[in-house]
Amino acid sequence: MDIKIPVTRSSMPDFEEYTEEIRSLWDTRWLTNSGEKHQLLESRLRDFLGVDNVALCVNGHLALECILEALELKGEVITTPFTFVSTTNALIRKGLTPVFCDIDPDNYTINPDLIEPLITEKTSAILGVHVYGNLCNDEKIEKIARKHGLKVIYDAAHAFGVTKNGRSAAAMGDASMFSFHATKVFHCIEGGAAIFRDSSLYTKLCHLKNFGMTSPEKLTYAGGNAKMNEFCAAMGLCNLRHLDRAIAARKRVYGRYTERLGILDGIKLCYVPEDTNSNYAYFPVVIDAEKFGCTRDELADRLAENGIGARKYFYPLTSTVGCLDGKNPNSTPVAQKISDNVLCLPIYEDLDEKSTDYICDTIISVSER
Ligand SMILES: *Cc1c(COP(=O)(O)O)cnc(C)c1O
Repeated sequence: MDIKIPVTRSSMPDFEEYTEEIRSLWDTRWLTNSGEKHQLLESRLRDFLGVDNVALCVNGHLALECILEALELKGEVITTPFTFVSTTNALIRKGLTPVFCDIDPDNYTINPDLIEPLITEKTSAILGVHVYGNLCNDEKIEKIARKHGLKVIYDAAHAFGVTKNGRSAAAMGDASMFSFHATKVFHCIEGGAAIFRDSSLYTKLCHLKNFGMTSPEKLTYAGGNAKMNEFCAAMGLCNLRHLDRAIAARKRVYGRYTERLGILDGIKLCYVPEDTNSNYAYFPVVIDAEKFGCTRDELADRLAENGIGARKYFYPLTSTVGCLDGKNPNSTPVAQKISDNVLCLPIYEDLDEKSTDYICDTIISVSER
């Protein structure tokens, strides 16, 4: 059967709203290089995120690479293997050695209690990931980093719009990366941002993303090209206006799933902590095959047979694939177990209640067999 309900579907503004937003580009002919839309979106994001230094980039991955470059990190970085390959690849591509730390069994972010034994004289930073929008334990991480003189960076690709006690995820650590890819809660078609606590690093990143030129005739760094263009910034300006609506719609889907699947045996859901405002970016379930009656892979197959897309996200662990395969000395048993049993269910703005119920009915019928 063809997939009728995809795992994700991009939010879009009305066609007229977008064409109105880009109309001025036909007059100015200023299509990239920090144009009017780019400047306006950076300013809107500073307000929305409550931080001073937001540098827009062509995508989240290059924003993260630019952050690593701007901080001039060396040696080892303590990180999580339970993430999208981009996080790990960024470290390797910048000549850094990822040192993998296991994760918290309930919110799936890096387990701060396991970080200290991994610190060596070569460690320069901790790179956490706010997996599914679940925020890392930033207080504990900050304390460890201060004690050992390490930088703290967050891959916040999943955490746009998430706040803890009213404070934005963007305010955590020395630097954060957001992804505005088409599949994310807030998107610019392709896009991303680098956030810095220190404004001189923001300025440095603005040069790094534009070939390292600090003026038309002066080249200070060997930078690359990671600039966001005006058409993508315009899409971001439109989508930001409707973000509340998109998150509210996702919250309804989350509520329905929680109500219907929360009572089943052998399927573990992620709950939003009291102090956190979620963006409902993903709906991961972790299957206990014995109690549930079938494995994660079998459930994924049954869903596909019924036209429902679901994603083994994140599987496999980044520490076990590609150039790292077999070279990872640390075992991360919790991350391995979650990765082997997790499945992300469809969640997006226009997933209606009928479809959500159909997905729940299908899961319930599988568990009853
Ligand atoms: C999407 C994503 C990225 C990469 O972002 P792009 O904008 O696609 O380059 C990195 N890390 C995580 C956790 C992601 O989900």
